Amino acid sequence: MSGIEERLAELRRAGLHRRRRLIEGPQGPRVCLDGAEVLLLCSNNYLGLADHPRVRQAAADAAERYGAGAGASRLISGSMELHRKLEGRLAEFEGAEAALLFGSGYLANTGIVAALAGAGDVVFSDELNHASIVDGCRLSRADTFVYRHRDLEHLERGLREAGSRARLIVTDGVFSMDGDVAPLSGLVELARRHGCLLAVDEAHGTGALGPGGRGSVAAAGLSGEVDVIIGTLGKALGGYGAYVCASAPLIDLLVNTARPLIFSTAPPPPSVGAALEALSLLASRPGLVEQLRRNGDTLREALAAEGLEVGDSRTQIVPVIVGDPRRAMALCERALEGGVFAQAIRPPTVPAGSSRLRLTAMANHRVDELRAGALVIGRAARSLGIGGGATMPDELSRAARPEGPAGLRRAA
Ligand SMILES: *Cc1c(COP(=O)(O)O)cnc(C)c1O
Repeated sequence: MSGIEERLAELRRAGLHRRRRLIEGPQGPRVCLDGAEVLLLCSNNYLGLADHPRVRQAAADAAERYGAGAGASRLISGSMELHRKLEGRLAEFEGAEAALLFGSGYLANTGIVAALAGAGDVVFSDELNHASIVDGCRLSRADTFVYRHRDLEHLERGLREAGSRARLIVTDGVFSMDGDVAPLSGLVELARRHGCLLAVDEAHGTGALGPGGRGSVAAAGLSGEVDVIIGTLGKALGGYGAYVCASAPLIDLLVNTARPLIFSTAPPPPSVGAALEALSLLASRPGLVEQLRRNGDTLREALAAEGLEVGDSRTQIVPVIVGDPRRAMALCERALEGGVFAQAIRPPTVPAGSSRLRLTAMANHRVDELRAGALVIGRAARSLGIGGGATMPDELSRAARPEGPAGLRRAA
């Protein structure tokens, strides 16, 4: 039957088949999973805002006042007041001239890359960038130079080769599966020297890093130095949707050329209302960001103390690198038996040979919960013979990258 069963069987054989687990109730620090209460260590609801009473109420109020949906793209049936208001707040939050809402971070990234670069241009992309950036590069029809992870020298070599064709450097601020941080000041400098735009995706930086949770760029003291900031409303801000902050002309260009903005319905009022309230909570409770940072440190140290390989994480995202996808799944299931839910992450989300548990701390986890969670994972790992250093050698995992090895990739 058109190969569907065969393809599913192939995924199962390779240990790469995925399924959706059922969770009851909201995304709290503990959840009911398949009928049992577990400690949730893999949600991006970093500040616990997704089910905060004020955020819920704001979503409900917005639905009452403005309805459930936006009706059309804003270029067709108009912006609602709420869209305008949120964009104003987001621009202020990021210290930018202007902001623009998108349906999601995935849509924002695909739209922005393709709007800012085209055939004949070269886009420079970190090899561990999020899939939405990878897809944006593909859609842009530009050539893509994939530079080795956080490797400024490799990037510079690519920039020199591209010469005047160099158009855009794009990077995750905090890398989504590793929790390490991009070398932002070096990137700003290279972008300037080579006359390129720089775009930083703050999906995991917003609400987590920098003063007031303003993100990795602010944390590096580089506010105002980055041309394009992308953020999501779906992670630390607890709702759904995304935004881009940039100069007014750049935003105007996106309004006119970013296809996911033009051809997709605007974010619905309840999401916009929720994001407004989440932003004001973030402003009035800077302690939340501090609590998240401390919890990230606690989780990382507790896992390292169990002898687990946690890579270069510096944030609330802590990987436990296993290597083989089947072993990563086995570790996930074993940890679940101990009441800890940390989803295994496998290719193509991460490079082949680097399957892992991706753990995340939330501000509303208790320290004793995080420590107990690390103990469970440590015990589960030992019972499966998983210890430190289970990764593939770097060269191997690089060559096995689903997107192909680093270097210049010509548009098809
Ligand atoms: C999750 C994520 C996105 C996508 O954001 P959504 O709003 O969930 O679509 C984009 N970039 C990075 C780095 C992410 O981790």
